[in-house]
Amino acid sequence: MTPPPLIRGRFAPSPTGPLHLGSLTAALASYLMAKSQHGQWLIRIEDIDPPREIAGMAEKQLQTLAGFGLHSDEPVLYQSSRSRVYLAALAKLLMENKAFYCSCSRNQLAGQDGIHRQCVATADPERAAIRLRVDDRSMEFTDGVYGRQHQKLADVIGDFVLKRADGYFAYQLAVVVDDADQGISQVVRGADLLSSTPRQIFLQQQLGVPTPSYCHIGLVRDSDGRKLSKSQWAADLDDEDRFTAFSTAYRHLGQDDRVLQRNWKAAANLERALQHFDASLLPVLTIPEPAGSPDAD
Ligand code: GLU
Repeated sequence: MTPPPLIRGRFAPSPTGPLHLGSLTAALASYLMAKSQHGQWLIRIEDIDPPREIAGMAEKQLQTLAGFGLHSDEPVLYQSSRSRVYLAALAKLLMENKAFYCSCSRNQLAGQDGIHRQCVATADPERAAIRLRVDDRSMEFTDGVYGRQHQKLADVIGDFVLKRADGYFAYQLAVVVDDADQGISQVVRGADLLSSTPRQIFLQQQLGVPTPSYCHIGLVRDSDGRKLSKSQWAADLDDEDRFTAFSTAYRHLGQDDRVLQRNWKAAANLERALQHFDASLLPVLTIPEPAGSPDAD
């Protein structure tokens, strides 16, 4: 009998600011989901948007994760080192006429709700974005937390940007190419990215690479069912009492944090959290409005 394929999960922060309780919750969820199925867990630094990044932040994020006992099973992959692979994917899509150069500005697209259906400007390859052409199909998938999802890209997204006119690669391209190259089979991340998933599955299909399973983790509430305040979410984890942050993140995943002990080392609590983790308890919460879509062109 062939053994079941190895689960490979990942946590993929952008080094645009310190990790906060929301990031820790997503990191912990992806770690526990992979490890509870005897899988591997990787960290990838998504540093493809220099104007939004802060120097030294990637190393700080890795230190923060290490402080909770969260270490990548393989060397950390930096997207800034991956330009050649992204260019090769773009070249293939352009050659197959699945992607095209586009010089349409936001203003020019405003008249059609910002949705690109066909070019309204003449493409100038010197200063053009590259977009992926979408079609009329409805993209469908089953999210591990939110259940059945569908989105018709042509109606709500339009042809989307893979390489920005300013020369930077778009999040949607880099995330799909890297998830495929790293053999990621299970994506667990914040629910703010639920609405990006149909685009990513469509791009996977256009590139002919496998689609991982998806599980989005909702915005969390405190034990009384109150929404956590923004400031609590934003609190820098290094300034926080680590045990409180860890047990809060674990509780937000629907788990019983009473199995954790304040006087234990982080690694011991992580091990204990894993032993007691039950994925069926992950809470289904409201889907947030996507705030500042990461694929902004
Ligand atoms: N880098 C993205 C972020 O920090 C997450 C990407 C992903 O998990 O797909 O929001």
